[in-house]
Amino acid sequence: MNTSHSTKTAPIPVTLIPGDGIGPEVVDAARRLIDATGVPIAWEEAHAGASIFRKGIASGVPQETLDSISRTRLVLKGPLETPVGFGEKSANVTLRKLFETYGNIRPVRELPGVPTPYAGRGIDLVVVRENVEDLYAGIEHMQTPGVAQCLKIISRKGCEKIVRLAFEVARAEGRKMVHCATKANIMKFTEGLLKRTFEEIAPEYPEISAQHIIVDNCAHQLVRRPEQFSVIVTTNMNGDILSDLTSALVGGLGFAPSANIGSEVAIFEAVHGSAPKYAGKDVINPTAMILSGVLMLRHIGAHAEADTLENAVLFTFEEGRHRTRDFAGDAGSCGTRAFTDAILGNLGKTPQHTPARTRSKLVLPVTSTVVDMVRPTQREVVGIDVFVESPLQPEQLGPKVQAAAEGTAFGLKMISNRGTVVFPLTGTRTDVVDQHRCRFLSRNPAPDVGNDEVRALLSGLEQQGLRWMHIEKLQAFDGRPAFTKAQGED
Ligand code: NAP
Repeated sequence: MNTSHSTKTAPIPVTLIPGDGIGPEVVDAARRLIDATGVPIAWEEAHAGASIFRKGIASGVPQETLDSISRTRLVLKGPLETPVGFGEKSANVTLRKLFETYGNIRPVRELPGVPTPYAGRGIDLVVVRENVEDLYAGIEHMQTPGVAQCLKIISRKGCEKIVRLAFEVARAEGRKMVHCATKANIMKFTEGLLKRTFEEIAPEYPEISAQHIIVDNCAHQLVRRPEQFSVIVTTNMNGDILSDLTSALVGGLGFAPSANIGSEVAIFEAVHGSAPKYAGKDVINPTAMILSGVLMLRHIGAHAEADTLENAVLFTFEEGRHRTRDFAGDAGSCGTRAFTDAILGNLGKTPQHTPARTRSKLVLPVTSTVVDMVRPTQREVVGIDVFVESPLQPEQLGPKVQAAAEGTAFGLKMISNRGTVVFPLTGTRTDVVDQHRCRFLSRNPAPDVGNDEVRALLSGLEQQGLRWMHIEKLQAFDGRPAFTKAQGED
């Protein structure tokens, strides 16, 4: 049921971040159209991204912008440039993480008149991407001068939130199927946690069918038969990649909006980046940003106005008189501003062939503030993985590591190199680098190894002249090992 947002209500404060590159053009288009719907918004302009990095603020987000978002809790944001390689972190990721916008909702829908190989197949799906965990937690180290690692952090709490959000999106939009796309076959604990959580929560939504799919097959199926999908919930990096793919199915990044949803703050932005080569040229497609504005209007309860704006966009596509360069080519294309003006002129019109979806309000999952959400009744430390930097080959390193463990509570179980067992010698041909994971298990059959025993083992390694840089306790929770085996480990 549509509700109208009265213009007599007090203006709603929204932080407006124009962003970098093409950002100011697309944000201006969205803002003009939102204002034209009559929803009273008090825009607070704030800045982040390239201009802020240039001022020497390493996060790319100044305090004034953080203060504005803390006040308004709503953001309409243009894309922000990210320095590549070394140095500063992405200001986008910083914003998403600082305000715990744990869910990234990325809908794509076939648009009339946009030529794609899939035209006529009725693509209409939503990727619900976990937005703050996974490899994008940004915990990276050079463990040796030549070996880098990035920690993939996935929590039960994060999985519960994103899975529930995905089912709530399906429920609010009357969708009947949710796929959970993971790489649980390889990463049993991290990706597997999302799969297990999905399977446990799915029965709470009996009217929606739930299916797990391996993420690489999901990519394959999306290209072959995208119309079979309705909602896909997935981890952060998978979702980043899959949602660029899904945007291409309906015409490209110019058409893909997104909402970053948290319990407190919501940030609305196009999926695309700052496309610097097009900045200021009045050639890019503002649709993704305008549809992000539609998502924002729905979020604040302005359903009728959201439908009015979405219908004007759909009508403009059906009419086909105004088409930007990305889908019309250079001949006969119109500029960003003229395209926006055309939508403005179509406010109040209803598309003939592209019916609006009936929606109810999105119910955000109730999120727990408990820190230790999963509590085992029994736990013990059964061993330790020590990461050692050494230029030695396994046949020289192995005996030294064994010698280091003599007289300690531990015995060497194996050494792996990039995840594959290399000691005891296997006769295989693993190419070895200078980061070795040495796995020690307690000699005690009923172990709970203490820190003094760990320190004794580390001293043993040091006495052998071995440099260690990282240790990981091998734990068992309620009798179940909380660590995986190496490739080739018994
Ligand atoms: P991009 O800016 O999204 O642009 C990639 C290509 O997508 C463009 O060259 C263009 O394709 C097409 N495109 C993007 N937006 C379009 C639009 N509105 N209308 C028409 N075509 C559009 O990706 P990128 O070049 O990889 O990234 C540039 C910068 O943006 C980087 O600094 C990156 O870190 C940042 N970024 C920011 C965000 C964000 O703020 N959320 C997201 C992604 C990337 P053609 O060349 O084929 O015309």
